[in-house]
Amino acid sequence: MSLAVSLEFENSVAVVTINNPPVNALSHSVRQGLWDYLEQIERNSDIKAVILRAEGRTFPAGADVREFGRPRTPPILSKICDRIEALPTPVIAEIHGTALGGGFELALACHYRIADQTARMGLPEVGLGVLPGGGGTQRLPRLVGAAQALDMIIGGKPVSAPAAEALGLIDRAVKKNLHQAALASALNLIDHGAGPRPTRDRVDGLSNVAKYNSEVAAMRTRHAKSPLANIPRIINCVEAAVLLPFEAGIAMERQAFDECETGPQAEALRHAFFAERRAAKVPELKGAELREIHRIGVVGAGTMGSGIAIACLDAGFPVTLVERNVEGLQAGISKIEKNYERSVKKGRIDETTRQNRMEQLNGTTEMQDLGQVDLVIEAVFEDEEVKRGVFAQLDQVMRPGAILATNTSYLDINALADTISRPEDVVGYHFFSPAHIMKLLEIVVGAKTHKDVVATGFALAKKLRKVPVRAGVADGFIGNRVLASYRLAADFMLEEGASPAEIDAAMRDFGFPVGPYQVLDMAGLDISWARRKRLAETRDPKERYVAIGDRICEQGWFGQKTGRGYYIYGGESGPVENPDVLTIIAQERAAKDITPRAFSVEEIQMRCLSAMANEGARLVEEGVALRPSDVDVAKLYGYGFPRHRGGPMMWADQNGLLAVENALKSYQPEEPEFWKPSPIFAELIKNGRHFSDLNGA
Ligand code: NAD
Repeated sequence: MSLAVSLEFENSVAVVTINNPPVNALSHSVRQGLWDYLEQIERNSDIKAVILRAEGRTFPAGADVREFGRPRTPPILSKICDRIEALPTPVIAEIHGTALGGGFELALACHYRIADQTARMGLPEVGLGVLPGGGGTQRLPRLVGAAQALDMIIGGKPVSAPAAEALGLIDRAVKKNLHQAALASALNLIDHGAGPRPTRDRVDGLSNVAKYNSEVAAMRTRHAKSPLANIPRIINCVEAAVLLPFEAGIAMERQAFDECETGPQAEALRHAFFAERRAAKVPELKGAELREIHRIGVVGAGTMGSGIAIACLDAGFPVTLVERNVEGLQAGISKIEKNYERSVKKGRIDETTRQNRMEQLNGTTEMQDLGQVDLVIEAVFEDEEVKRGVFAQLDQVMRPGAILATNTSYLDINALADTISRPEDVVGYHFFSPAHIMKLLEIVVGAKTHKDVVATGFALAKKLRKVPVRAGVADGFIGNRVLASYRLAADFMLEEGASPAEIDAAMRDFGFPVGPYQVLDMAGLDISWARRKRLAETRDPKERYVAIGDRICEQGWFGQKTGRGYYIYGGESGPVENPDVLTIIAQERAAKDITPRAFSVEEIQMRCLSAMANEGARLVEEGVALRPSDVDVAKLYGYGFPRHRGGPMMWADQNGLLAVENALKSYQPEEPEFWKPSPIFAELIKNGRHFSDLNGA
């Protein structure tokens, strides 16, 4: 018998307990154990009721991640669910912790459900590109109706036990003594001679077919444009639950699950899932001692500084915020105040929390006040001189062993670290805007950064609910360097015949929420202009330079904030293409003697994506990124790369490395250095391997 499941008897009640730490995942050993005990229970006529429960911190929280994407060794979950449901005695699910995915499907197959008040339950499979495959699409609608079931399956968000009780998903939520409550229910059911109550036979949710037909139809319309292959299949399955016999619906669910699981989107989403976990494994963690962080300082209360302060306050840290003058400080504090007021209005936090957070914020114009903090995150202007000045002051006032982090987007952290007496305490924490919302945190490791400082950064990222990625020192680290190549590939096309709107549309068509020129307009065209001006002196004159962005900025058009950029803003029907920009582009083409040509959507996508993948490969080659999947994580969490595509390196794998390398080679005559394929392509192709083979465990 499997050790992951046990069977005990409490009077005439069989208590089946799953024990597979840490989250009681439904691994093969659990499934086999359940299967074997169900067989025993079926044969034992002394058993009058069954309780299904789990040891430890939770009812099963889903499938075993090690089995994702692989054929499951029998017994499969849906057969176990069917067997539970067919038992001749009442079966009660005793739910605590987080009953998710297959765990929740097990509970749905039971005849009764009792949950601890603090439990949460749901079907998050959608996020992995699949759908519930253990009967969830058929049983859930039978309990709560089509609209609610679709909300839960497509939304993927768990519901609380009280909400589940209100929905009729569970029979009761209890405040304490869950097991006693389950046992009392079992005995009560036995006393009343209650038999099984199979969910498959219940119509509570589906008594009004016409209503459900229209709900399903509404959902189909709402998701008509979704690029996700699992969404229409989920809708079909729930529709089947409304219209067809249970077995037919289950068969449809099985087929839909298999089709999704073996498809490219599920592969990419699984990759994203594992890549995020892998990114947190960095060599510096080995043997490192975490430095204690109790109080954080933030220098600069501008766009980034105020967002970083909010992220730290939200994680419970007291924050000392330093600005160069009172006006700047007031502006920063007022941004933070407004953020929390908005959060209260939207019901995200209550008034007490708002007050607590603001009480934890201490604003000052004195660097001296940073003497007792354990970490400072510097977010002043992107200017080497200004940052050096700040670091010199920090070096004077901060206590020994405190960490000095810079939020620079591009500057050389090694050069900055070498200007002070403790380069080993210097690290880059590259947040993304808005810093309290965006998930990505690049942790930039300098040549002298101590491993304890790196490890502390990864631990802090977790507290700040960020997704950390380790980056070496390079212009733009990982994310911005890949972005620069993406933009350059787009700019070349602009010069050669494509319009900003065409390029934006092609990238939206690929799955980006917005295209590269829309992003530029949002961020402010002056920001990248300032950088280009800064780099002008050191630019190789032989390099192809696209000056369209400069010409636009020279007009004083900086994008959304000035109402004009690549697009014109403020009109009733939303942003429209800026015709004057098209004129500027035409002039630039004429000045370079370029005869414009048309670009197909496919070519725009291929050029942009192959440029990104190639830059990612170079970052791996240079050791700036530890592995290709770190490049993907950076793009997924910081730059809106569509998650169902898995990131640029996964895209290259799925598209075929040979095809990507051939594309790069075919563009090479236009701009030899830029389009030169990284040698990693040839190496992988020669050995029949992929970028994913370089990711390690
Ligand atoms: P910002 O201009 O909005 O804010 C900078 C703030 O620093 C200003 O409020 C300024 O008064 C203050 N400051 C300047 N010198 C100071 C000093 N000596 N002491 C105290 N305060 C001082 O700039 P930002 O957009 O918040 O960028 C800050 C840093 O973050 C830059 O290095 C930038 O490259 C980086 N960054 C920006 C973004 C973004 O999207 N804006 C994203 C990632 C990283």
